[in-house]
Amino acid sequence: MSLATPPNNSIQAVVFDFGGVLITSITNQLSKLAERHATDVPTMLTIMLGPHESGDHPWHRAERGEIAVADIQNSLKPWASQHDIELHGDEIDALMSPGQYTVIGPMVDKVSELKNHGLKTGLLTNTFAEFRPKMQQDLRFEDFTAVIESFAVGSRKPEPGIYQATADMLGVAHHEILYLDDFPQNIHMAQSFGWSTIHVTDPIAAISEIDRFLGD
Ligand SMILES: [Mg+2]
Repeated sequence: MSLATPPNNSIQAVVFDFGGVLITSITNQLSKLAERHATDVPTMLTIMLGPHESGDHPWHRAERGEIAVADIQNSLKPWASQHDIELHGDEIDALMSPGQYTVIGPMVDKVSELKNHGLKTGLLTNTFAEFRPKMQQDLRFEDFTAVIESFAVGSRKPEPGIYQATADMLGVAHHEILYLDDFPQNIHMAQSFGWSTIHVTDPIAAISEIDRFLGD
């Protein structure tokens, strides 16, 4: 399935992922951890954040609000053992420590602009309850018509439940949504619901793609 969809003038809502779209991704810290454990970044990512498919990895469970962030580290051992890696015990703290990302100002400003132009705006993110205060410092929540958080919904991308919740909370039909995300698996599920999509690899370039979609 393609990661791009053609311009669509029935768009009523523009929905934004957080990591890799509104902020830079946390890959830097992951590469430091990978280096420490003499492995590659994709392996480290799978150990720490779980596989692409949603399941019972502790990071996934915390994102669905089933366990606390403080309980992730102790549950990672079997996932690390599969790759013959013994974790030091401070890896989750390292990933979650302050200063691991920067906010992409022009993208945050784009959200305000779209809202001011009368479009609905959504924030759709796999996230933890514990992270909410930080996210509220980084973003202007009043610029979003709806904030859809995995821990609150009890479903995480790319599980179907959170996509349905997004359309419901925004009060729009699936085909009226334009969605920006940096993970292909999240984009593919959005497309299967009939959403238009922008697969974000460069957030600044993605801003002009939004305008192209909306026909500006
Ligand atoms: Mg992301």
